[in-house]
Amino acid sequence: MGEHVHVRIWDGLSVSDGGDLIELSHCRCGATWSKTYRVDEGAPED
Ligand SMILES: [Zn+2]
Repeated sequence: MGEHVHVRIWDGLSVSDGGDLIELSHCRCGATWSKTYRVDEGAPED
């Protein structure tokens, strides 16, 4: 079999209990990915 090229299908964004942003995606073959973005920059200062 040739190499399978994953096609990442966007599942959307979620927010963890810790307030991090989680990007979810999957491939039709069943593979899944989750990428976490830390959003802990704090409140912007004036
Ligand atoms: Zn795949």
